[in-house]
Amino acid sequence: MILLPKNLEVWFLVGSQHLYGEAALKKVAANAQVIARAFNHAEELPLKVVLKPVLTGPDEITQIMDEANVAKNCVGVVTWMHTFSPAKMWIAGLKNLRKPLAHLHTQFNRDLPWGEIDMDFMNLNQAAHGDREFGFIGARLRLNRKIIVGHWSDKDVLAQLGAWMRAATAWHDWQGAKFARFGDNMRQVAVTEGNKVSAEIAFGFSVNGFGVGDLAAKVKAVKDAAADRLCAKYAEEYTLAPELRQGGARHESLRDGAKIELGMRAFLEDGGFKGFTTTFEDLHGLAQLPGLAVQRLMADGYGFGAEGDWKTAALVRAFKVMADGLPGGASFMEDYTYHLENGKRKVLGAHMLEICPSIAAKKPTLEIHPLGIGGKADPVRLVFDTPPGPAINGSLIDLGNRFRLLVNEVTAVKYPPLQKLPVARTVWEPKPDFATAAAAWILAGGAHHTVFTPALTKEHVENFADIAGLEYFLIAEHTTMCNAKRELRWNELYYQLAPGLGAV
Ligand code: MN
Repeated sequence: MILLPKNLEVWFLVGSQHLYGEAALKKVAANAQVIARAFNHAEELPLKVVLKPVLTGPDEITQIMDEANVAKNCVGVVTWMHTFSPAKMWIAGLKNLRKPLAHLHTQFNRDLPWGEIDMDFMNLNQAAHGDREFGFIGARLRLNRKIIVGHWSDKDVLAQLGAWMRAATAWHDWQGAKFARFGDNMRQVAVTEGNKVSAEIAFGFSVNGFGVGDLAAKVKAVKDAAADRLCAKYAEEYTLAPELRQGGARHESLRDGAKIELGMRAFLEDGGFKGFTTTFEDLHGLAQLPGLAVQRLMADGYGFGAEGDWKTAALVRAFKVMADGLPGGASFMEDYTYHLENGKRKVLGAHMLEICPSIAAKKPTLEIHPLGIGGKADPVRLVFDTPPGPAINGSLIDLGNRFRLLVNEVTAVKYPPLQKLPVARTVWEPKPDFATAAAAWILAGGAHHTVFTPALTKEHVENFADIAGLEYFLIAEHTTMCNAKRELRWNELYYQLAPGLGAV
């Protein structure tokens, strides 16, 4: 599945005015072209940058913003004021803009030409105050926007712009996205519930339920030959347990697993879904709880949440879009169990089955083991470990009047062999320390279900939360319980008052 399509783009809007004459405007346009060309060759930027003609008046600014709103391939706009560009000219356009906005505060020349500088140079290179004028109107309009500061050739600036582009693309991907729920929520579970109408209004994606019988019919329709072909592919991609190999005592269970994958894939492709949920309480007509199928679909880019958890399914999808092309992968995850040795406390993350092999350290093994939950035949599943290194966990919860996105920075660590554990797993140490991280997470209501990714940083997710208008609660090196409590209390107030903080 293509997560970052090559035809997506961001628009580069450069502001000026007619005060300085045509020659200056020509120079502005030429300089902007140099920057746009450099952006289009920068490996940090995942999308095409499309430079628009220099903007010098309110009508053309309003028109370009209106065009951006309806341009299907435009995921956001980047603005920069090369010269002074009186910001009242931008009011109507910015009021109309419904795409993510990044304000690039840069300057064409990196260095001051100390011995040569004259008033022509001063008039041409005015971003230092032109971007402040633009910043005021952004503040006055209470606009959500990313502000990136530095020379356009700096690696740090490119990295920030790239992270914002990835977040804008994930937001773009959510608009009109469809998520399917096979069955409903796990009975009595609170955090996986939520208001799907509120989510569709806030985030642009829809979540709808389907009877598991509809899925079972798709699975039943899978031809034996197709299942055999997929089993052969499994044998190429994974190390198969001897009993699952062709001629092995339990090869038939692998064929059942292959049929579930093909049936699910057909269902999701036919309906144009970007993610899905399952629940072990509703498997009527399926031979096994879908394990291998879910793992492989996630690896292909589908969002997934277990036990009906559609919020996490949508978040897995968004993280996968942001992480596309970056090393490390992204997976549905659950804080499962702990190592509580003092000074070395860690979390073992896993699920009953459904961890994405995109985070695997090496070739997974394909195994079959009993599963006490679900009341079905033993499910096939991929088993693997994950490499050490920095990662983040993200969780999306519904607080009734709003959604909250939590992020915890963690470090995946090495761990002893887990010969008897028949599921994919990872082990991490949370920041700032185990006790603070767990206490802050619990105080903020973070779910046990998360998205785990070594591919992204807090910056990606913070950009995404800003674009989505989401409350963002970060647990990282800076976190203390005192500050966490205050932030959560202040947020309660802010999100009550925010709807009244208009631009008028
Ligand atoms: Mn679970």
